[in-house]
Amino acid sequence: MTVITRFAPSPTGLLHVGNIRTALHNWMWAKAQGGRFLLRIDDTDAQRSEERFVDAIRADLAWLGLHPDAEERQSARTARYEAVFEELRAAGHIYPAYETAQELDLKRKIQRGRGLPPVYDRAALALTDADRAALAADGVRPHWRFKLDHAAPIAWIDLIRGPQAFDAATMSDPVIRRADGSWLYMLPSAIDDMDMRVTHVVRGEDHVTNTALQLQMFAAMGARAPAFAHEALLTGAEGKLSKRLGSLGVDAFREQGIEPAAIVSLLARLGTSLAVEPHLDPAPLLDTFDFAHFGRAPARFDERELAQVNARIVHQLPFAAVADRLPAGMDAAAWDAIRPNLETVGGAAEWWHVVEGPVDAPAPGEEAAYLAQAAEVARAIDWSVDPWHALTTALKEATGRKGKPLFLPLRRALTGRDHGPDMAALLPLIGRDRAIARLDSNSRG
Ligand code: GLU
Repeated sequence: MTVITRFAPSPTGLLHVGNIRTALHNWMWAKAQGGRFLLRIDDTDAQRSEERFVDAIRADLAWLGLHPDAEERQSARTARYEAVFEELRAAGHIYPAYETAQELDLKRKIQRGRGLPPVYDRAALALTDADRAALAADGVRPHWRFKLDHAAPIAWIDLIRGPQAFDAATMSDPVIRRADGSWLYMLPSAIDDMDMRVTHVVRGEDHVTNTALQLQMFAAMGARAPAFAHEALLTGAEGKLSKRLGSLGVDAFREQGIEPAAIVSLLARLGTSLAVEPHLDPAPLLDTFDFAHFGRAPARFDERELAQVNARIVHQLPFAAVADRLPAGMDAAAWDAIRPNLETVGGAAEWWHVVEGPVDAPAPGEEAAYLAQAAEVARAIDWSVDPWHALTTALKEATGRKGKPLFLPLRRALTGRDHGPDMAALLPLIGRDRAIARLDSNSRG
C-alpha cells in the first residue's frame, strides 16, 4: 500500500504556523514511507477563496521545501460531488431540510433551556411529499443534511489520540450543502479522500468531531476510511492559544531571517517526545518520524526557541547556500569566520562592515600606549599565517599582559566592539593595512 497524505488548506488566507505544521507532518509521513504528498486546495467557498492565497500557499510550501507530488482543486471537482450526492440521496443518506438559521437558533435555545444538548431534531424528516411540494411552490429551497446512522457505532484508533468513540445519536445530522447548491467542507473532503486514495489524514484535533461524521460518510459511500492522526493544537509560549500564532507565517519568518530548515526542524519535533535538533537535511527527521511520539498536550510554540534553532542552522549553512544573500565581496573564508557568530544570515552584513570599516572604536583612554605598541608589533609580524597569534604572542612577551587586558583593547580598537567572531578568523579578513591604521588611530589617546 502506497502511503498517500494530503494537506488541504482553504485559500481564504495565508498559511500560519499551525497549518504549516500540519503540512509538514503530512509531507514527512508520506516521504518517510516512500509515499505521495498531495496539496488539495479546498476552494469550494467561492466567495472567500482567492487566487492570490492559492499562489501564496504554493510559494510558502516551496520555500519550506515541502513539494507536493500533485495538486488537486475542489472547485474543479463539483461534477463529481454532484454525482455522489445524487447517489447518496437516492440511497436515503441525504435529506432536504428547510429551517432558516433563525429557526434553528431558536430550537437550540429551547433545547438548552431544557438542559438538552442542541442536537438537530430531524423535523425535516417528518415532512410529507405534499409538504415539500408546497414549500417548493412557495419558492423555498432546501439545504441538505447527511443522515447519520444512529445504530452504527462510530469508533477508530487515532494514531495520536488512541481509541476514539462517538455516539451518532448525540450528534446533529451535518448540513453538507447550502440552499444555493454550494458545498460545505464535510462531504467533498470525504469524497476526495476516497477518490484520491488518501491513506492517512493528519490534521488538528479541532477536526475530531468531523472525523466521526466523515466516518459515516465513508461507510455510506462504501469506501474504506483512511487512518486518522489528530494533532494537539499549538499554543503560544505562554501556553495559551495566541492571536500571534494566527498571523505568524512564512512572510514574518522570512523578515526575521528565519531559515526554512529551522522551521522544519522545530515543527517536526515540537509536541513530540523527541528532542528538537537543528537539521539542514530533513532525512534524520524523516527517519525518526512516528505518530507514537506525539503527545496529547498542546504543543508550545516559542519564537525564542525558533530563533535559537535558527542560529544553530545558520552555523551549519555552507557558503554556497547563502552566497547570494551576502554583501558584495564577502567570500567563503569570510563567511566561515563570521558564521559562528550569527543568529541570521542577514547579520553577516554587520560583521562584513566591521571587516571593511571604518569602525567606530571607543576612545582608547589609558590603553593608547598599549595600542601604539600593538601598531608597532603589527608592522613587524608575518601576516601570511595566523597574524592574531603572532600579534598577541609578541605583545604578551613585550608587556607581560595576558587574558582580557591583552585581548580586549585590541578587539575594541580593531572592531569597535567588545564581542564578536573569533579574532583569529577576523583579523586576516581585516588585513594588515586596515588593522595597522585602526591601531594607529587608537594610539592617540
Ligand atoms: N480545508 C480544511 C481545513 O483547512 C481541511 C481539513 C482537513 O484536513 O480535512 O480545515
